[in-house]
Amino acid sequence: MPAKPIIQLHPAAAPSRLAPNGKRFFIWTMGCQMNEADSAKIAAMLQEVGYRPADSELDADIVVLNSCVVRQAAEDKVAGRLNSLRRLKAQKPEVPVVLTGCMVTNQQEALTKRFPHVDLFFDPSDFDKLQRVVPELADLDDDLAQLPHYYLPDTPENSGVTAYVPIIYGCNFLCSYCIVPYRRGKETSRPMRDIVAEVEELASRGVREVTLLGQTVNAWGHDLGGDVNLAHLLRAVDAVPGLDRLRFLTSHPKYMSDEIIGTMAELPSVCEHMNLPVQAGDDDVLRRMRRTYSRDFWKDRIALTRNLMPGTTIATDIIVGFPGETDEQFMQTYALLEETGCDKVHLAMYSPRPGTLSARWEDDVPHEEKQRRHHELEKLQERLCTGINADRLGRTFEVLVEGKAKGRWTGRTRGNTLVHFDDDRDVLGKLLDVRITQTSPWFLIGAPVGTPR
Ligand code: SAH
Ligand code: SF4
Repeated sequence: MPAKPIIQLHPAAAPSRLAPNGKRFFIWTMGCQMNEADSAKIAAMLQEVGYRPADSELDADIVVLNSCVVRQAAEDKVAGRLNSLRRLKAQKPEVPVVLTGCMVTNQQEALTKRFPHVDLFFDPSDFDKLQRVVPELADLDDDLAQLPHYYLPDTPENSGVTAYVPIIYGCNFLCSYCIVPYRRGKETSRPMRDIVAEVEELASRGVREVTLLGQTVNAWGHDLGGDVNLAHLLRAVDAVPGLDRLRFLTSHPKYMSDEIIGTMAELPSVCEHMNLPVQAGDDDVLRRMRRTYSRDFWKDRIALTRNLMPGTTIATDIIVGFPGETDEQFMQTYALLEETGCDKVHLAMYSPRPGTLSARWEDDVPHEEKQRRHHELEKLQERLCTGINADRLGRTFEVLVEGKAKGRWTGRTRGNTLVHFDDDRDVLGKLLDVRITQTSPWFLIGAPVGTPR
């Protein structure tokens, strides 16, 4: 049976491009949503020339690894995966192995020596390079830039109703611990008209929720000249017909202006959810992290958001065990999280990255102590989320149904909380009101009420 077309035809593409060519691709992705968006675009490009997804690298005609080096553990995982491909490459030398993502930038020479079985290295988002191992892509050349970044509806968990859209690449901050600016370069915003055109196309394909992406997404527009910022872009995207939900991440507290928060509150599609990494709750640690804001400033941004959009859920990132972080300073982070009550906290143990400022300082919090602090915050978060979700019992939330997991429908509220429920109807891709009947710290269970729309 021929593989069913997984994506709809790109308007600029000739029909023959969708005919399967019998070849399969396998993409493995580590790291942030920017990488996921890049991987989705690579998958889209390969499908446009007839490739189809493979179940594993073993039955693939091309293997792409998309790497992350934000922490040593991530880098080690990528290296392990690359090494495990040596055997495959020895058995099937004709299968190109490709490495992209943050591990590649400025490191090609060293990587070529370390991983000689890799056929191609290319920098994040430098998609044209893929032509070197997939010559068919040359025929698409004119269209490459226009191909949208989108999730492919090729798994039961992913219906293709949500999509990521990168809007700004790079980062102009220089947080002392962070390797990202060295690997992703300076902030470069995409023009508003390209972004809006991409969202229009996604919406016309049935995508109902779009997440705008950037390392510092709310710096969008600062490099474009003129006086545009994320608030203007949100207005333009909100106006796209057929788009029900709009999100954006990751925001930097310094740029989370009153104007952006006010615009979020005003626009119907913008979800009541804010991703605002604080990293630490102690002002001295924040200063040494070069974060450029104080604990009170972050708290104030959250307070204004909750004031203008009651019920807004908050996600944040925390690093524990930063050089010199005392137990007292750690407890400031603990207290900040406890008083703020975030819905989601991405916790990381500090990991020195070569070339960054803090890598020159002594990594003086012992590993066991970092683990203890990490564990303390995990326990705190579990307690807080138990309470936050318990308060949702009996309430009704609008859920966008994204797929099935373990036989149950699964989707997210506008606040980004996971909801599972049973329904005999096919509700994939629908918005549905769900009444919450059971809660846990990490997800909700409910029963549908009303009509899917
Ligand atoms: N631009 C975002 C974060 C991008 S990096 C921001 O400004 O917050 C993603 C997350 O990885 C960071 O939020 C941080 O928590 C974590 N991270 C980055 N560098 C790290 C390091 N050297 N050690 C541990 N965690 C790190
Ligand atoms: Fe890294 Fe800081 Fe830029 Fe975020 S803002 S990507 S943490 S340098």
